[in-house]
Amino acid sequence: MENRTARHVLFYGCCLLFLCSHAYTQENKDIAAEGVKFLQEYLKIDTTNPPGNEMRAAVFLQQIANRENIPNRIYDLGNNRANFLAVLKGDGSKKGVVLLHHMDVVPAEEKYWKVHPFSGAIVDGEIYGRGALDIKGKGIIDLMTMIHYQRQRIPLSRDIIFLAVADEENNSLGSKWMIENEPGIFKNVEFLIDEGACALFDKTGKTIAYFFSLGEKSPLWLTITFKGEPGHGSVPLENSAVNRAIRAAHKILAYQSELQVLPDIEESLMMCLATRECEKMPGFSNNLSESLRSQLFLETIAKDPELAALLKNTIAITCLQGSDKINTISNEAKISLDCRLLPGVDKERFMQKLMAIMDDHTAEIKIEEYIPTTKSPRDTVFVNALTQCARAREAGVKVIPVILPSSTDASFYRLLGIHCYGFESYRIREEDSALCHGNNERVSVENIKFGIEFLTDILAEMAK
Ligand SMILES: [Zn+2]
Repeated sequence: MENRTARHVLFYGCCLLFLCSHAYTQENKDIAAEGVKFLQEYLKIDTTNPPGNEMRAAVFLQQIANRENIPNRIYDLGNNRANFLAVLKGDGSKKGVVLLHHMDVVPAEEKYWKVHPFSGAIVDGEIYGRGALDIKGKGIIDLMTMIHYQRQRIPLSRDIIFLAVADEENNSLGSKWMIENEPGIFKNVEFLIDEGACALFDKTGKTIAYFFSLGEKSPLWLTITFKGEPGHGSVPLENSAVNRAIRAAHKILAYQSELQVLPDIEESLMMCLATRECEKMPGFSNNLSESLRSQLFLETIAKDPELAALLKNTIAITCLQGSDKINTISNEAKISLDCRLLPGVDKERFMQKLMAIMDDHTAEIKIEEYIPTTKSPRDTVFVNALTQCARAREAGVKVIPVILPSSTDASFYRLLGIHCYGFESYRIREEDSALCHGNNERVSVENIKFGIEFLTDILAEMAK
């Protein structure tokens, strides 16, 4: 978990005494081309977590910021782990905006890839590499957007705070450390733009919608220990700890959580369902909106695990542990549960319900991890800016909020009162969103250009 002994002080960005004069004459397309090169280099830095080793990535980002004379700093978290911060100051008339991404990536198995996952190779206009979509691509878009503001000397009403953190894919060491050790950075911040969702287009190239996340489900990880008389495997005991654990697990599997449609997901749910033959489904009546009020219809669509995760508190049994010896009946047995709660659900009540379902007086429940989550509002300067910029490009295009079934670092910053949104300035094929932790993860060269332009537009709109 969080590394509280982490060393705090490290390198201040060594400021250049003068700025390269040519930097101010660069055109946007050059910025995009530079961004593509930087992303290729960034993807070559193996930040597979564990162990992460994000220090090299932080130094890489710092070198770029230094060349642009953007004040910056690396925070050494120990064990070759680091966070990186760069700030462009505004005039203070409006509160700041944080552009957040994580430097670590999930593992990649080379044998399933068509190019090496840490090659940054470009094939048919796509930049390949673990992290291309999740989320080094966004990191480079954020950085290049900031560089654009710096080079063009565009006056800022808000601080632009570029933050690259360690360990999002594991224990969020980086974000937790920043919040605990550098709270001052977030004091005057109004918005934070993290990963979460993006614009998607269909097979014909038509934009489906610009999606952004405004909340996440709360992870609640539990271990439940059962107790029973120990003994020899040759004499089975009805109420052994393992038997108790198995019976409890069975009751959990049989339990059906209540299905509900949160107002913030209704629109995205209807969009998901629009392409399916819902009229033929049990519980359908008149139209989709009306059908979503029917429990039978919800039960029907909840057969799809992805949709079910959006409609209820989920419980996944992930670990089972009994004796480590085949002929021994152990004193204890454990099951571990990865529960994800809808925003606003009280964890104590949820755990009471769980205990009642298992109905075993030996059961002891232990919380391994819990992140309370809230939602950011739908009607803010950011959401309006995103909507305006999307519609300036594509008249009438839909801009749709989503709740993420999994968690991101945004949940920690939301607790500070910051309006946090998950929006990556990508416009990608619908099916490519599945590449995030998959094989052949990639992002198009075109997307880097689009992303920088689009984020620049959003920040300009937010500055008004
Ligand atoms: Zn990510």
